[in-house]
Amino acid sequence: MPIRPELAHEQPYGAPQLDVPVLLNVNENPYPPSPDVVETISREVARAAEGLNRYPDRDFSELRQDLADYLALETGVAMDPFSVWAANGSNEVMLHLLQAFGGPGRTALSFAPTYSMYPEYARDTHTRWITARRDEDFTVDPRTAAAAIAEHRPSVILLASPNNPTGTALPPSTIEAVLEAARTADPATPAVVVVDEAYAEFRRAGTPSAVSLLADHPNLAVTRTMSKAFALAGARVGYLAAQPDLVDALRVVRLPYHLSAVTQAVARAALRHRDTLMAQVGGLREERDALVAWLREQRTPAGAGLRVADSDANFVLFGTFADRHAVWQGLLDRGVLIRETGPDGWLRVSVGTPQENAAFRRALTDVVEALTNVIEETA
Ligand SMILES: *Cc1c(COP(=O)(O)O)cnc(C)c1O
Repeated sequence: MPIRPELAHEQPYGAPQLDVPVLLNVNENPYPPSPDVVETISREVARAAEGLNRYPDRDFSELRQDLADYLALETGVAMDPFSVWAANGSNEVMLHLLQAFGGPGRTALSFAPTYSMYPEYARDTHTRWITARRDEDFTVDPRTAAAAIAEHRPSVILLASPNNPTGTALPPSTIEAVLEAARTADPATPAVVVVDEAYAEFRRAGTPSAVSLLADHPNLAVTRTMSKAFALAGARVGYLAAQPDLVDALRVVRLPYHLSAVTQAVARAALRHRDTLMAQVGGLREERDALVAWLREQRTPAGAGLRVADSDANFVLFGTFADRHAVWQGLLDRGVLIRETGPDGWLRVSVGTPQENAAFRRALTDVVEALTNVIEETA
C-alpha cells in the first residue's frame, strides 16, 4: 500500500473493548440515559428523520445556541452562539484546531503525562509534536512551561485540565502564565492555547473553568464534550468555546455538513435534560472522592501503601506497582476492566456506580493479596 511512511508502522487507537461485567476503563458515565431522556431523544430523532432528504444546517445554529446557554449556566460566564463550535466528539474539534493552526513546519506543545490521542492528531496533521514534563504531582510548573514555549515556539499549546490520565486540574494562574508566555514568545501571532476541559463538570468545588479567561484572550480555546459528564459518549458530540474569530478559522477546515441532523437532534434533546444530568454528576464526584480516600487507606501487611493522584475528573490514577500489567490482568480475571495507562507502574480506574466501585475495591484487595509485594515501597 502506498501509505505515508510515517504511518506505515502505526497501530489504530484501541482501548480494549471487552465483554466484562464491570467496565471502568474509558471514563464513561456509568448510568445509561433515563427513560425520559430516551423519550425526548427518540421524539427529536423522529422529527429529524422526516427531513433527512436535505443536508443539515451546516452551522448548526440552534445547537450552538443551546451549548452556549449550557456553558453560561455551568460556568457563570455569558456566552453567545458565535463563540461556540461543535463536532463529532471533542476529538474532531481538536483535529479542526490542528488543521487550522498546526500543519507542516509548525509545532504543537503539551505537558506529559497527558492524553494519548494528542500526538496522533499532531501526526495526522503533519504537525511537529513536543512534550515538556509535568511535575512529580502532575501539575504544570509555569516556569517550565514558559521555557518550553520560548524554546520550541509552538503554534498550538494543549493543556488538558482536568488532565487525563492523572485527573489534575490547573489553576487559572497557570493557564494565564502560559497565555502570557505565548504572547511574549510571539507578540504578533501568539500560539493558540487549547484548554481541554473534557472532565470539567467533575472538578472539585472552587476550581474555576478556563471559560472565565476567554473574554481577555483571543488566542484561547476551551474544549468540552458531551461524552463524559453528559452520559452521551455514543452520540459523539464535542464542542469548543473561543472568540468568534478563532471559531471562524475552524469553519474553514471542517468538512461540509460534518454534524448530521441526527447528531444535532440528539445533542439538543439531551441538553434539555441538563438539570437531571448535572445532579447525577454530583453523585459521581462523591463516589470519586470516596474512592480516592479508600485507595489511600490501603496497606499491605508489610506496610506499603498506594500513591493516589488528586482527581478533579471521573477517574483515579493510582499505583505504583512493580508489575502493573499483572494487577490489571488480575482485575480482569475477576471481571473488572480498568485501563493500563499513564506513567510506569500506575493504573487508571473510572468511577462507576456504587456497585461497580464496590466490585473494583473487592477485586483490588484480592489481587494485591494474591500478588505479594506488588505495591512498590515509596520513600
Ligand atoms: C475523553 C476525552 C476527550 C473526549 O473525547 P470525545 O471525542 O469528545 O469523546 C477529550 N479529551 C480528553 C483528555 C479525554 O480524556
